[in-house]
Amino acid sequence: MARRLDLLPKAHLHLHFTGAMRRGTLIELAAAHGISLPDAFGSDWPPRLRGTDERGWFRFQRLYDCARAVLRTEADIRRLITEMAQDEVAEGSGWLEYQVDPSGYASRFGGLTSFVELVLDATAAAARSTGLGIGVILAANRTRHPLDARTTARLAASHAGGGVVGFGLSNDERRGAPADFAAAFRIASRAGLLAVPHGGELTGAASVRACIDELNADRIGHGVAAATEPALVRRLAEREITLEVCPASNIALGVAAAPADVPLVQLLDAGVPVALGADDPLLFGSRLTAQYELARGVYGLADDQLASLARMSVLGSAVPADRGERLLAGINAWLAAPDPAAGTPAGIPGGPRDTVAGTAQQAAPGTVAGTAQQAAPGTVAASGPGPSPGPGSGPGPNSGAGAGYSVTPTSTGSLASSIPNTERTPATISMASATRSAVLAPPRLVSARVCLAEILAAPPAG
Ligand SMILES: [Zn+2]
Repeated sequence: MARRLDLLPKAHLHLHFTGAMRRGTLIELAAAHGISLPDAFGSDWPPRLRGTDERGWFRFQRLYDCARAVLRTEADIRRLITEMAQDEVAEGSGWLEYQVDPSGYASRFGGLTSFVELVLDATAAAARSTGLGIGVILAANRTRHPLDARTTARLAASHAGGGVVGFGLSNDERRGAPADFAAAFRIASRAGLLAVPHGGELTGAASVRACIDELNADRIGHGVAAATEPALVRRLAEREITLEVCPASNIALGVAAAPADVPLVQLLDAGVPVALGADDPLLFGSRLTAQYELARGVYGLADDQLASLARMSVLGSAVPADRGERLLAGINAWLAAPDPAAGTPAGIPGGPRDTVAGTAQQAAPGTVAGTAQQAAPGTVAASGPGPSPGPGSGPGPNSGAGAGYSVTPTSTGSLASSIPNTERTPATISMASATRSAVLAPPRLVSARVCLAEILAAPPAG
């Protein structure tokens, strides 16, 4: 038995709104509203998908639309967000940035503004009830007119400091060139929001370059196609642009022909910051912890390297400084605790876990996040008591699907040698660069001063 990855504190930076819904909830809401669902959500779940051509992507989007159609009432929205937060806590996530394209819901909820205000209010309530810190990313749909994206950007900007932390760009990369959306990203950037477009998933390295050159991306959703161009990989590493790598999504959509083809180790070896994400658990069948299980089981990362991945997720996020510090301390404590696989007794009273998590035993999922009442201005603060996993907070119905992969590890990776230590150019990045390399260097991590600003991710689609 190895260290439990659901107990590893982490931030989740790539999760879509409807794609985060529990399958059981989808089925219940569909029945309540008299909507029939395709077998892909029933006996054929998880669906067999293909995003590598337009026809396959269309089917993927149609399934996403079917799922979105069950969200009819304010109560449905609140239920989805509450359960999303509960599931994140169960996965060990202490900070979540999820993305939503409001244009896909506005018509049923009184318009863009009223839908966004409902989402932000429900998010704040979910943060209070679960103890999870949550930032919202509003995403534009790249298959719509760029003027629509500007409208979404203005809406995002107007809620900067009120729960929105970033601006994204989603849907089919083969449509809508990044340059067309540059004006929208400038609006968001002026408001201090993170730029987190999707890129380098369905098309090549050029789309990653465009996210940097045209949109001044702070993070990039997926970005795995960058691995084909060494010069671009070096650029990502030098600028410390975090890639939100979603292995299960890449595998499900055929972006990677085989699990071993996701270039996770290659990117890490080159010093590119990576935050693992689940993308759309409802469609891909696995949540956040399963991505870390893949990193361990398929890509051969050791526990110190997994801890570094978790640190990178925190460092690439918009998490408020105090919560970020607690998460980093919790990651240290996770790694400092005896490895069950080594046969050492677990739990050392007075040890790091004792002092950080307040208990000598393995902390319950999410407890390293602390009591969450000190979110920085501009974030959705959780002001209630600490995480209190309720009946619905156990592993979700989709969890654990990644355990089915049985590919021989491709590499052990060498994260320690690849930690970026250069100054980050964009001023928005969170962690003081001077301490960043020290924080990332496994296995010793210390009380780095986190001075996070605002950051974010992307929209509904792979
Ligand atoms: Zn995505």
